[in-house]
Amino acid sequence: MKPIDEKEEERHRAKMAKRKAVQDAEVAGKSVAEKGLLIVNTGPGKGKTTAAFGLALRMLGYGRRVGVVQFVKGAWHTGEKDAFASFGDQVVWHTMGEGFTWETQDLKRDIAAAQAAWAKALELICDPTISLVVLDELNIALRYDYLDLDEVIGALQSRRPDLHVVVTGRNAKPALVEAADLVTEMGAVKHHFAAGVKAQKGIEF
Ligand code: ATP
Ligand code: MG
Repeated sequence: MKPIDEKEEERHRAKMAKRKAVQDAEVAGKSVAEKGLLIVNTGPGKGKTTAAFGLALRMLGYGRRVGVVQFVKGAWHTGEKDAFASFGDQVVWHTMGEGFTWETQDLKRDIAAAQAAWAKALELICDPTISLVVLDELNIALRYDYLDLDEVIGALQSRRPDLHVVVTGRNAKPALVEAADLVTEMGAVKHHFAAGVKAQKGIEF
């Protein structure tokens, strides 16, 4: 690396001071101090569920309680379930789905499982001791119309104002995207499955 001369250092200082002023003005312009967010992680790329659990971990770090409902349970055991169990009653965890639809091949059972999962979700949403609720793969249950979209959105919108909720899953319904405060679309740039690499422990499950 070439040595940095004084002029260059001064230019950098001035540039950063300008950037800080812009940043400070932007922060000062925000008037809502605290708000429970409705967050949607969707899209075809990997990372929707893991990002939601990242938020759960962040919340747990403040000693807050977190609730999780898994609407579509895969056939596999997952590392995160065990990891979160070590937080004791700071985490309430419900794995409710029967597996992917193509695995169960039983529509009635899928609908019943989605509805049972939604009942658990409502319990968590109504629990005043919980700060963040993760509704993992709720988008899948909505996509297949296993749940009533208006009812789900209505319940999410009438939650208490400081409760954060994260919904994950591909193909988020436009009405849910509309209702949400924060929506992230994970893009699939490259995935190792395409190269024939199987699901990896600690990465996929
Ligand atoms: P993760 O749980 O790893 O955050 P996700 O929630 O974004 O993934 P899902 O749609 O729930 O993704 O699918 C779960 C599984 O499918 C994961 O094991 C993931 O690696 C895999 N997967 C996600 N995106 C792709 C893709 N674009 N191609 C192939 N497999 C994928
Ligand atoms: Mg997922």
